[in-house]
Amino acid sequence: MSGIYIHIPFCKQACHYCDFHFSTSMKKKDEMVLALAKEIELRKSEFQNELVETIYFGGGTPSVLTIDDIRFLIDSVYKHYRVIENPEITLEANPDDLDQETILQYANSPINRLSIGVQSFFEDDLELMNRAHNSAEAKKCLEFATQHFDNISIDLIYGMPNMSNEKWLQNIETALSFNIPHISSYALTVEPRTALDKMIKVGTVPKLDDDLAQQHFHILIDKLEENGFVHYELSNFGKPDYFSKNNTAYWLGKKYIGIGPSAHSYNGESRSWNVANNSLYLKTIAENKVPSETEFLSKNDRYNEYIMTGLRTIWGVSLERIESEFGSKYLDYLQKQAEKFILEELLEIVTSSVSMKSESKSIEKQVLKTTKKGKFLSDGIASDLFLVNLE
Ligand code: SF4
Repeated sequence: MSGIYIHIPFCKQACHYCDFHFSTSMKKKDEMVLALAKEIELRKSEFQNELVETIYFGGGTPSVLTIDDIRFLIDSVYKHYRVIENPEITLEANPDDLDQETILQYANSPINRLSIGVQSFFEDDLELMNRAHNSAEAKKCLEFATQHFDNISIDLIYGMPNMSNEKWLQNIETALSFNIPHISSYALTVEPRTALDKMIKVGTVPKLDDDLAQQHFHILIDKLEENGFVHYELSNFGKPDYFSKNNTAYWLGKKYIGIGPSAHSYNGESRSWNVANNSLYLKTIAENKVPSETEFLSKNDRYNEYIMTGLRTIWGVSLERIESEFGSKYLDYLQKQAEKFILEELLEIVTSSVSMKSESKSIEKQVLKTTKKGKFLSDGIASDLFLVNLE
């Protein structure tokens, strides 16, 4: 089972913290839609033996496309790939694009999941981030959207400069008041060469405070768990049955094809990524070629990736899988490296029982996971468990 990701590389304006690939000029939008459809066709042989379970429009801002553009791209996927019945089809959208008419158009299309870039319900935060929407638009679009979609996720950003714990809690409570089943929440980070980076360097915005971000993270976990959400990945919280199928597939190592400038793909053995340049992308696709680079993953790369994603998710790192897929040397190394984190109560080994229907018995599985205390630090812990050369 596999997923198709389609990157829409346009945004109305540049958010100050963002380093994703996008252009604020819409001049080539129509040409881009045709090129995306062409790439979908050019790459159909890659998924000859696969069933597509999820289609995900990300960006950039997919909601700058017309409903006809979106339908055309979904039709292109159906035309060239085998798609399961009722695939999850997600569209990322920004509140300023989500008026009632647009939401109705989406609801009458194959899109069945909306991921809305709210980020904050406070005007001053939205201004600081240079978001294209305001707080009233964020609330209004959620009122409409929840009338027509049950599967909605919103993004929220924490760790904003000078954001008090009370203000952050208010943001979470406002989100909860719309009764949405999924929240993705990320700490604000300073990416090199972004406007935020420059503003912090010249002192117009205060430096980010890691301790504050950590406090926000724990408030978020407590509040959402209290309200029936499962913290299934470091930045993702969902009610049961509402976890993102698309993202879960990435974390569980399933294959995906990334269409569009800067999109990444994974086929189980290698990763590839398309050029992050709209003009070059269009030119190369017009020559019937896909402008991408490929990296074959060594055993160490695959081990490191499994550790990184496993520690971020509720599913953890299976010690049996480490031994069967990578060998006992890798397992010994992992257990040795994990020791100090287990003593510091940042990691734990949990034993769970898994029933084996075929043999009508259950077997014990040991899984390495981050503890509640260790969750915020999971990326740093993972990098200490990585290995550089054991082959
Ligand atoms: S809308 Fe999203 S992709 Fe576009 S600039 Fe803002 S954060 Fe980046």
